[in-house]
Amino acid sequence: MERFSENAIRVLEARYLLRDSEGALIETPEEMFHRVADAVALAEQSFADAKTAERYAEEFFDLLSKREFLPNSPTLMNAGTPLGQLSACFVLPVEDSMPEIFESLKLMALIQQAGGGTGFSFSRLRPRGDLVKKTGGQASGPISFMRIFDCATENIRQGGKRRGANMGVLRIDHPDVRDFIGAKLDGVSFQNFNLSVGITDAFMQATQKNEPFAFVHPGSGQATETIPAGELLQSIAEAAWKTGDPGMIFMDAINRENPTPQLGAIEATNPCGEVPLLPYEACNLGSINVSRMVRKDATGYFIDWKKLSDTTRLSLRFLDNVIEVCRWPDSRIAEMVRGNRKVGLGVMGFAELLILLEIPYGSDQSVRLAEELMQYIAAEALAASQQLAEERGVFPNWEKSIYAAKGIRLRNATRTSIAPTGTIGIIAGTSAGIEPLFALAYRREHVLGEQTLVEVNPLFLRYAEQYGLQSQKLKDDLQCLGSLSKLTGVPAEVKALFRTALEIAPEDHLRIQAAFQKHVDNAVSKTVNLPESASVETIAEIYRRAWEMGLKGVTVYRYGSKGQQVLYLGTGE
Ligand code: ADP
Repeated sequence: MERFSENAIRVLEARYLLRDSEGALIETPEEMFHRVADAVALAEQSFADAKTAERYAEEFFDLLSKREFLPNSPTLMNAGTPLGQLSACFVLPVEDSMPEIFESLKLMALIQQAGGGTGFSFSRLRPRGDLVKKTGGQASGPISFMRIFDCATENIRQGGKRRGANMGVLRIDHPDVRDFIGAKLDGVSFQNFNLSVGITDAFMQATQKNEPFAFVHPGSGQATETIPAGELLQSIAEAAWKTGDPGMIFMDAINRENPTPQLGAIEATNPCGEVPLLPYEACNLGSINVSRMVRKDATGYFIDWKKLSDTTRLSLRFLDNVIEVCRWPDSRIAEMVRGNRKVGLGVMGFAELLILLEIPYGSDQSVRLAEELMQYIAAEALAASQQLAEERGVFPNWEKSIYAAKGIRLRNATRTSIAPTGTIGIIAGTSAGIEPLFALAYRREHVLGEQTLVEVNPLFLRYAEQYGLQSQKLKDDLQCLGSLSKLTGVPAEVKALFRTALEIAPEDHLRIQAAFQKHVDNAVSKTVNLPESASVETIAEIYRRAWEMGLKGVTVYRYGSKGQQVLYLGTGE
């Protein structure tokens, strides 16, 4: 089996490889891939026989061990273990009553314990100061209930491995939205939450026309107050400028593509935003390492479309199998997940692929490739899901889905999604999701709760060797600055090819996100990285553009704006 990077081994040992009761490792990475492949292939037995299961166990092992595709972390950690909870993404309802709020809190604890991330819409909770009929007292409001969820998460370690992650959503027309927008400004609150304001088309239109916008009581539907829409947008941009939170999700764009509107409107997403889900739904993610979907001839690298087709179809089957063998902590979740059978197949290594093909990230050519690539994967995933429907039947809620009217028989209500691949990207040894390279030399903090040394991007090292760019001075300068842009003696085309996240214009970040979103039926996890000097107005403009482009959400991060961040550019020394 191909070797792992040093970082990959550290991550695998810390979190993925099984240990005995004394804490000693009892598994190699190869054994881990066998454990996962065997457990997931077992699903074949429900539809075919043991022989088929054996054949797929081998195919899945091959797929994983070559790191051409990896499922989300809980599948790698828990498949074939007594825990058996394999999904990364959940959404839970938060209804406006004490028993229901604490019921969700309990479910959150159980999901997080088993490695899943949870998303919630708090929009149904009555605003702070509202009357509580039963006690005659005053309601504490959504932000204060969110604190309880945050505190609970703080104290739950996922199998002793990592702390859980949450998404909190509040609609832009909720009377408490201003408190929500500023909820993380103190730098200490809600450290276990990503926050997203649920934006409506009506709100964005009001900002364009500079009109007042009404807050609406979630219970009565009555307007409580009006304020200038532009002011509200500005306050979101200011908070995001300061802390990176909140992000935005575009509720109407999401619900225009809700595959099962008869089952309800979508109000929330999973923690990183790439999967909009109904209450009690969960989704299994997996990512194809597109940097491995290439071949090389005398003229250079090119995409191996046949390999991409085979990989996509096998990966989709893998993900459908995961639903079959997964165990959930609650029967309502099991019923919803089995009813819609949503999966989210996406890509990682897109930036690496572009470098292999010598296409600068953010260029017109890269945007065209993004679209072509995702269109192809989506079509293959659809075909695979249709074939599975023939073999195994359509998803049980199919009759109630948009696909029944279209006469498209499918096994899965959604097939595609672009995940951040924060850790599986490290295991695969490629660039994360569809993000550009963050830096060519960086310090990675807090992956395992400790500081690691400066890493120089291995892809750049390989390239540098090939093109004779290996002077010690270049290496030293690179370690210090983290990118090539300010270095002399480096050809302009090399600088363009290795442009890093902060050197790519916001509009180009968005164009890449939009190109993928066009062919993704869930959503796309993407951060518009901004240099420290970026202005609040730039962020507000990114919001307007993201909405105009029809994106389902947008996240910005200004370098240095969080007290602690994961990646730092170079050493700065
Ligand atoms: P990975 O690379 O570990 O598979 P990603 O970075 O792709 O994970 O994130 C995918 C999803 O997994 C997230 O949107 C979230 O739902 C879930 N997730 C990620 N990190 C955590 C965490 N620390 N706790 C709980 N869930 C998480």
